[in-house]
Amino acid sequence: MSQLSTPCEVEPIDLLDALSDESYTGENRCWPCTVLNLGLVGLLALFLRARERSLASLLVAVVGVAVIYLRGYLVPYTPAFAPRLVAGSPIPDEWFHRASAHRESPSEDVTHEESESLADDVELDGETVFGELSAAGVIEVEDEQLFLSEGVDTAWHERMDELAEHSLEDLSATLQSSLPQIDHAEPYVDDAEWVVLGSDPGELLARPVAVAELAAYEVLSEPLTDERLTVAGTEAFRMFLDSCPVCNSELVESSTVSCCGGHLGPRQDPDETLVCPTCEQRLYTFEGAN
Ligand SMILES: [Zn+2]
Repeated sequence: MSQLSTPCEVEPIDLLDALSDESYTGENRCWPCTVLNLGLVGLLALFLRARERSLASLLVAVVGVAVIYLRGYLVPYTPAFAPRLVAGSPIPDEWFHRASAHRESPSEDVTHEESESLADDVELDGETVFGELSAAGVIEVEDEQLFLSEGVDTAWHERMDELAEHSLEDLSATLQSSLPQIDHAEPYVDDAEWVVLGSDPGELLARPVAVAELAAYEVLSEPLTDERLTVAGTEAFRMFLDSCPVCNSELVESSTVSCCGGHLGPRQDPDETLVCPTCEQRLYTFEGAN
């Protein structure tokens, strides 16, 4: 009689849990991502079959479909590029959507609206903001391209690096104490990290956006004296980001047509966006770019 030992005991349920990702499955499943990935798996399986590698072909098909079922997608960063492909294809966008997109209500009992920027309530047009920022020497134009002036850019990045080290609690507290128009800010976490601005019910500001805008606000407070202009300027700064202020991932271009953005009507063109593929949050929306 030997004693039974079970060194390799696998709990199938835990394994399934570990593999599955709720952000892109179930209610949140993004159909552009799913369809695109299934198509790619099918193509690869057919290719292997044509090369008479039936076993490999079968394996690719089974594993591919299982991963897409569990995780929502197989090819890394699909949520960042699938919406662009769909936007550029003749397939109507509404085929892929029901009424709600991801994260419109991150939890069932609290419905927070997503806020694009600290400057959401400031009514200053883009032209005025850019005019004032370049008059103050914050923005420079060279070969018809806009740049942040060197000193401003350095100060902004240094402050973003500091704020990225802050816990979400500290970031919320700093935001609340720095901006006079924010009377309340608190951390909020679902499948991403947010700062809730205000209360009843409050608006969600993505953590990387909060870091970028708070740093910009502090840097702008020196050259600018107009509070409204300073707040409006924080939003403009985000278009100069090329990496995520929180995790340093290189930002990828996407569009608001699908999973990383909101839903648009069939006659509207999607806006171009800059998205952090790691934080899965939108860092900038180029509005009216089409
Ligand atoms: Zn990030």
